[in-house]
Amino acid sequence: MTSSTPTAVDPVRLQQVLDGRWAHTRDECRELLRDSDFAPTYGESITESRFRISRLTKKLGQTGRTALGLPAEYGGDADAGASVVMVEMLAHADLSLMVKAGVQWGLFGGAVHLLGTKAHHDAYLRDISTYELPGCFAMTETGHGSDVQQLRTTCTYDPQTETFDLHTPHQAARKDYIGNAAQDGRMAVVFAQLITGGAGRGVHAWLVPIRNDDGTPCAGVTIGDAGSKAGLLGVDNGRLSFDHVRVPRTMLLDRYGQVAADGTYTSSIENETRRFFTMLGTLVRGRVTVGAAAAAATKVALDIAVSYGDVRRQFTAPGRDREVVINDYLVHQRKLLPALATTYALHFAQEELVGRMHDVHTAVHVQGEAVDETVQRELESRAAGLKVANTWHATSTIQLCREACGGAGYLAENRLPALKADTDVFTTFEGDNTVLLQLVAKGLLTGYRDAFGSLAGWSKVGYVADLVRETVLERTAARGLIQRLVDAVPSRDDDVSMLNRGWQLKMFEFREKHTLEGVIRRLRKRASKPGVDPFDTFNDVQDHVLRTAQTHIDRVVLEAFVAGIERAADPAARALLERVCSLYALYTIEVDKAWFLEHGQLTPTRAKMLTTTVNSLLKELRPQMGTLVQAFAIQDNWKAARILQEEPIRQESMAAFDRQRPTVKV
Ligand SMILES: Cc1cc2nc3c(=O)[nH]c(=O)nc-3n(C[C@H](O)[C@H](O)[C@H](O)COP(=O)(O)OP(=O)(O)OC[C@H]3O[C@@H](n4cnc5c(N)ncnc54)[C@H](O)[C@@H]3O)c2cc1C
Repeated sequence: MTSSTPTAVDPVRLQQVLDGRWAHTRDECRELLRDSDFAPTYGESITESRFRISRLTKKLGQTGRTALGLPAEYGGDADAGASVVMVEMLAHADLSLMVKAGVQWGLFGGAVHLLGTKAHHDAYLRDISTYELPGCFAMTETGHGSDVQQLRTTCTYDPQTETFDLHTPHQAARKDYIGNAAQDGRMAVVFAQLITGGAGRGVHAWLVPIRNDDGTPCAGVTIGDAGSKAGLLGVDNGRLSFDHVRVPRTMLLDRYGQVAADGTYTSSIENETRRFFTMLGTLVRGRVTVGAAAAAATKVALDIAVSYGDVRRQFTAPGRDREVVINDYLVHQRKLLPALATTYALHFAQEELVGRMHDVHTAVHVQGEAVDETVQRELESRAAGLKVANTWHATSTIQLCREACGGAGYLAENRLPALKADTDVFTTFEGDNTVLLQLVAKGLLTGYRDAFGSLAGWSKVGYVADLVRETVLERTAARGLIQRLVDAVPSRDDDVSMLNRGWQLKMFEFREKHTLEGVIRRLRKRASKPGVDPFDTFNDVQDHVLRTAQTHIDRVVLEAFVAGIERAADPAARALLERVCSLYALYTIEVDKAWFLEHGQLTPTRAKMLTTTVNSLLKELRPQMGTLVQAFAIQDNWKAARILQEEPIRQESMAAFDRQRPTVKV
């Protein structure tokens, strides 16, 4: 150990910092999932896997702990944060179970709760929470997944019969990929275009029975199976089509739009697009959950790879009597430690997001306060950004962990192939990542939507400066702390240590601000030309727009990490987190070194120093790799990787054999 190496850290102290505000929920789930029934299972057929996951979902439903997000009168705790954390914890154990639970209690239950009103709650929420009533969230159609405002399914009101006519007009309007549809779902929340009095009112949602008690499809409903998938074998994704299905008027989930018996339409939100996005915004919890679950799966993969890397040996080094442990190789550390540091950073950002979501949800849905549109929009943007960051990080890190375990990483018995296959689609469902990044960027370009209609606004003098001031300087938690750190950075960069947190924050802030200003300048320039086509104006800078979103997310994540460290009471845990935070910051800058050089933020000398500093951080953190993964508190039965039991025994027997054999000179 070098003198600057952080002292030994108790992983439990670190875990306490990570467990955060919902530590009690995490502990409760750890206890619940200790049951060996929840351990990962390998080599099943689709039928076996679906059967097992259905059984486990029922078992979860019977614990009485799946209604956490629901009001107390329906058996819940009205704790939106806990409901996300619970599904996140399932992802440690089984991703099919996590998705099935997410569909049942997050999407289906969430839609009935948040889009429906008291009559729907009284009739259905209890049975939904216990899984007596398995259900689906049927939004996507074969023809429209990302642009769901363009759904083609229609639901037309008939005042004569006081029913809606739910209809799939053609093949592309078929509901597709719908979780819980192929086997278990009894009802579905179906999204369709509402037509009443001959006028379209935009997309709304209805609660529709799809299966009879004997499991056969209801009259007029066609149910198909999405068939074999790359992963998530236990989730029964299916297809739904409706042939003029009669739906009673009361089954419209009418919180945001009501249809009277005579067909009169009312809504407190006049504008159709605003109403639609308000409805979608209400359902933000699903997106928050997917990001959290991706992070949970990433932690399992890292735990497996780091634990294996601490016992696996390859190649000898001169003067050593045993082969080298693979975690001692710098390039192995370069794979695992930056990924670990990013996982920590994202954890703190996610924790902050869940807290925000919980507070907004509690204010609006428990305390009955009016929705603050700015707060809601910021929440949606943050949820989208972190869903993107967490799911892409999961995809790249799980692959990296697979490679870090060599051939063993490719064997199903070591869990990594399933983690890879199961989380792959997380980058697509609950919003395609590219599309979500545009949502984040649009949030940054305040007034984007207005400007889309009236591009002249972009060329106003001073507009850019105002916009950038308003958006970029909006900070995450611990605003004051971060400002103090940034303000304390000496003005001559060359004199500043790269471990200076203020300098790191300043670099992230500069990159985001500069990128955003660049986009606005380019948009302004195009907008000021006569006869400009709004689509081309934005499409021509789409790559730049997405980059802006990414730099914004990076800053938000770093600031959340800095704020999170403040929670660490234990000095050793805190010192370690400071190091990990520096690794996250400096590695992120290193990856984008060319940009910082191009924009005069790094001299060639400092650019080289950056790589040296990252490498010395890796060396310092090498002895702490095990502690960093132990703090994730992933139980052995969730890891279920055979190499973790067998490799230490193999290495010991090999060492014993080597001690007895005569030395062979090569
Ligand atoms: C396993 C699984 C489970 C699912 N479960 C459900 C469920 O329970 N309920 C439900 O309603 N849905 C569900 N879905 C559907 C899922 O939400 C959609 O697949 C997703 O929203 C993407 O839509 P799409 O497949 O139509 O892709 P598309 O929207 O067609 O996207 C295809 C490509 O086009 C790109 N693209 C699209 N628009 C733009 C743009 N403006 N700019 C640049 N690029 C663009 C995207 O980045 C993507 O790469 C599930 C899907 C899967 C695979």
